[in-house]
Amino acid sequence: MSQIQLKEIGKTYADGYEAVKGVSMDIADGEFMILVGPSGCGKSTLLRMVVGLEDITSGDLLIDGKRVNELAPRDRNLSMVFQNYALYPHLSVYENIAFPLRLNKGEISEEEVKRRVSDASTMLELNDHLDRKPANLSGGQRQRVAMGRAIVRDADAFLFDEPLSNLDAKLRGQMRTEIARMQRRLGQTTIYVTHDQTEAMTLGDRVTVLKKGVVQQIASPRELYEQP
Ligand code: ADP
Ligand code: ADP
Repeated sequence: MSQIQLKEIGKTYADGYEAVKGVSMDIADGEFMILVGPSGCGKSTLLRMVVGLEDITSGDLLIDGKRVNELAPRDRNLSMVFQNYALYPHLSVYENIAFPLRLNKGEISEEEVKRRVSDASTMLELNDHLDRKPANLSGGQRQRVAMGRAIVRDADAFLFDEPLSNLDAKLRGQMRTEIARMQRRLGQTTIYVTHDQTEAMTLGDRVTVLKKGVVQQIASPRELYEQP
């Protein structure tokens, strides 16, 4: 659990393009924040800055009140699920999920790794597929592996970048339900990028609308989608 605060965050890329401009956001402990906006408005850039994969040009990023702008990704203790899954093709489902735990070599016993992978794969109904390689999985199963990898460690928060956009409607509905269940069970602070209004409505506590790198509105899903 974690509180995430963005204070006037800005990003100018090396080529001079200003992708994010003075974005401020307070995400409460356990809150599910949806991030929406047209393609190219800076959503991925924002997530990557929060998780630490992209330098912050200006402003402050606070996690539980502490400034973390210069902290390495692994020290921020956030888990990100990418749109393209980013699974390791040569590793089994088990090893893909266990991967983040192996980064802290020696710190986590093999027994503990097994227990945590088992917990995650049970929750995501992947137990029958642990020995398979990503190439032999369906899109929905791959997505669940990516999610398993995110929840296997005790991350303080989750960041999702359009995690369901490559799935067909039926799987998307199923995964949406799974994410909602996971959220109820783990109660993790979450920032979730999506274009899907149903996802925003069912999952989100609040919705931030981004346009050309600027926050246009922060509202509840109802306020946003049911206004005249
Ligand atoms: P979104 O996720 O909302 O589609 P992005 O954050 O991916 O938007 O991109 C925001 C803007 O920043 C886009 O105009 C994109 O072309 C630009 N951009 C993204 N990455 C880079 C980069 N490495 N260098 C320069 N411009 C970039
Ligand atoms: P998305 O699917 O989020 O729209 P893109 O296809 O725009 O992603 O971008 C894919 C990758 O290319 C990202 O890592 C992004 O940082 C990079 N990128 C996007 N726009 C630019 C750009 N104008 N210059 C350099 N890199 C870019």
